[in-house]
Amino acid sequence: MADFDLFVIGGGSGGVRAARIAAGLGAKVAIAEEYRLGGTCVIRGCIPKKLLYYGSHFAEEFEEARSYGWEIKGVKFNWKKLTRNVNAEVDRLNNFYYELLDNAGVSLFEARAVLKDKHTIEVAGKTVTAETILVATGGSPYIPDIPGAQFAISSNEVFHLKKLPKRLMIAGAGYIAVEFAGIFNSLGVDTTVVYRKNKVLRGFADDLRTRLTNAMEQRGIRFLFDTNLGNIEKTRKGLKITCTNGSVGFYDELLCAVGRTPNTKGLGLEAVGVKLAENGAVAVDKYSCTNVKNIYAVGDVTDRINLTPDAIKEGHAFALTKYGNQKVSPEHDNVASAVFSQPPIGTVGLTGVECQEQNLEIDIYTSEFRPLKQTLTGRVEKTFVKMIVDKKTDVVLGAHMIGPDAAEIIQGVAIAVKNKLTKAQFDQTVAIHPTTAEEFVLLKK
Ligand code: FAD
Repeated sequence: MADFDLFVIGGGSGGVRAARIAAGLGAKVAIAEEYRLGGTCVIRGCIPKKLLYYGSHFAEEFEEARSYGWEIKGVKFNWKKLTRNVNAEVDRLNNFYYELLDNAGVSLFEARAVLKDKHTIEVAGKTVTAETILVATGGSPYIPDIPGAQFAISSNEVFHLKKLPKRLMIAGAGYIAVEFAGIFNSLGVDTTVVYRKNKVLRGFADDLRTRLTNAMEQRGIRFLFDTNLGNIEKTRKGLKITCTNGSVGFYDELLCAVGRTPNTKGLGLEAVGVKLAENGAVAVDKYSCTNVKNIYAVGDVTDRINLTPDAIKEGHAFALTKYGNQKVSPEHDNVASAVFSQPPIGTVGLTGVECQEQNLEIDIYTSEFRPLKQTLTGRVEKTFVKMIVDKKTDVVLGAHMIGPDAAEIIQGVAIAVKNKLTKAQFDQTVAIHPTTAEEFVLLKK
């Protein structure tokens, strides 16, 4: 008999959820975590990032408050205090994860685990066996192999910077790059983004991409487009960064946010015959099962939708299917997501381009306006909302937005999109006035 019914490798969002639910359903479960329980989201992703985002946002709010009659003097920002408080909250959540697993009766190994064969795991100097193995090892920042790459930091280190840099270069233009660009720019850091294409957020609706790129530029972020990091040297004037187009600049820090790689290296998966995709992601079926029958994988390591709620849903669905006598496959359609850029983006469903690819005939509704709050502040930045509707069925296929509160608004709209409500049903809904969200029930051609 095996030591455990289930051995989970990785104590992040997906792994912890799967372990807890499986244990609750009566399985004997162990989990291994090599760094800190809670995983990327809690320790060095969503949570500390959103807290930094809130921290940076006060800059805008102090500025706007003046137009609302507030006299603000002597405002100072203290990076050490912000990061100390953020990291204290991370510690609190980390402790909470110990409690969660303990209460669920899950055995914890605080060490790296690797597979020896398809039922055997080596962890903390021990060899343990399990009927079923769940790989939930997440992903890691990709650092390009260029001269001087050792001087770059990734999102792993950014929460622990001792000093706020004066000059920051960020490589990449995905959501992590633009979020940190917004945060540091708002905190007064001279911020430059270098990207090999000419618009941020590849894969998002084009109108949002253009608007965010312009808004970031207007807020003072410098872009070096159509070029790449070439060479990094440490000099007395700071990091001397040469790009492939020959441009040279000096910076205090370089934050590399050019992509993430699934954590499968050295795990022993290939040796037991588990199929991996070209980028190293574990290939799974709709029940998160690999080609080896007793080995499953959930979360970022499978490179499906690399977001926390998806990792959690996948982990939960795996546990219900395996130990709960149910067949549950996590749904990956109409997943809403947000970019906590400044201004933020919220999006759910299909983009215009995706509709074209599927030969769908669509109507597009858009609205661009200055939010009421900004009428007093003089800020000219506009909010933009867009809805994509199936011409034949009137079903709303996608909703996209850039502007204040986009993430909060789109979460509500996502319920309607997920449930295939029609444009007519949106229109029948009485608006809440005056809000930005009301635009979604007032859109006219
Ligand atoms: P993880 O949470 O990464 O957990 C995997 C765990 O496995 C890690 O703790 C790792 O240490 C451990 N591990 C790896 N190998 C081993 C091994 N061999 N043995 C033992 N342990 C091992 N998502 C959102 O939904 N919203 C956001 O706002 C958001 N912001 C983000 C911001 C940043 C900067 C980053 C990097 C990510 C962000 N994400 C966000 C993505 C989100 O964090 C991930 O999608 C989510 O954490 C994936 O969960 P997971 O369980 O698959 O992996």
